Amino acid sequence: MRPELEATCDQVDVDAMGSLLGFRAGTGDGARYRVMLAAHMDEIGLMVTHVDAATGFLNIIPLGGWDARTLVSQRVVVHGREAVDGVVGTPPVHVLKPEDRDRAPKLTDLVIDTGILDGRITDLVRPGDVATRSRRLQQMGDLISGKALDDRVGVFIMLEALRMTEPATADLYAVAAVQEEVGLRGSRTATHRVNPHVGVAIDTCPSGDGPGQTGGGTKLGDGAAIRVADASAIASHRVVEFLERLAVDRGIPHQFHVSDKGGTDTASLQLARDGSLAGCISIPSRYGHSSVEACHPGDIQACIDLTVALIEHAHELIPEG
Ligand SMILES: [Zn+2]
Repeated sequence: MRPELEATCDQVDVDAMGSLLGFRAGTGDGARYRVMLAAHMDEIGLMVTHVDAATGFLNIIPLGGWDARTLVSQRVVVHGREAVDGVVGTPPVHVLKPEDRDRAPKLTDLVIDTGILDGRITDLVRPGDVATRSRRLQQMGDLISGKALDDRVGVFIMLEALRMTEPATADLYAVAAVQEEVGLRGSRTATHRVNPHVGVAIDTCPSGDGPGQTGGGTKLGDGAAIRVADASAIASHRVVEFLERLAVDRGIPHQFHVSDKGGTDTASLQLARDGSLAGCISIPSRYGHSSVEACHPGDIQACIDLTVALIEHAHELIPEG
């Protein structure tokens, strides 16, 4: 991320938590408004709690919001002294007790099997090391699919929008945040430093169009999702209406995400210091927090176009009072 931000920003700082803060000076006269974009670099993962030398098994706790069913039968990489491959296995169906076949596993029941049988594992991995899933991005029909599109796709959109814009009237901060998945943490300190007037997160939202879903919501291919509400934040209605106007003016396909579940760095942006005008540009996604998340490239392009429009016009969102 750092070289990518350095290519498009005047200055890039890293804060104590590890978030990267790109800064691009505005062209306006006098005291300029500060506009902050935030996309998170981290993904959900696992932390090792116990290393069993005899079996090569690793006990784990979750980092972020896991559904244990999506972890079963996955390949993982343990980031120890060296990278160690592993799998998360369960007993084969032939030997499962009938009552266990119908029961979803709990994450704390699962272990990472590293296949290392000779005790070497204790030299390679120790408690506190983290593991991530191993899964490559692939094109699948009209969609792209892979792990951690939440929020790699948001980071990509932020970088593309930076590449496509010149310095605008307001000062611009582009923040690649850490530790979003464990509680919107990196964006808290970054926002405190920037103290933005306007703050917009770029992150995925669960679409409503996956198999078996009939409750409405966003659809893949219908455009950028302007996020109105979730469990962590109610976006500023001024930001929502501003993003909608930009989308209409530029012919950018768009839709709205409204939910009482989930959360994004928008909450940190909104609540820092005296608060900011906060909102979120969201990318509809199926199968969130699994290793086969899926997004539509057309929606990603719409989010890039909307972020470009925001960078160019954000100074018009002059705070009241
Ligand atoms: Zn996210």
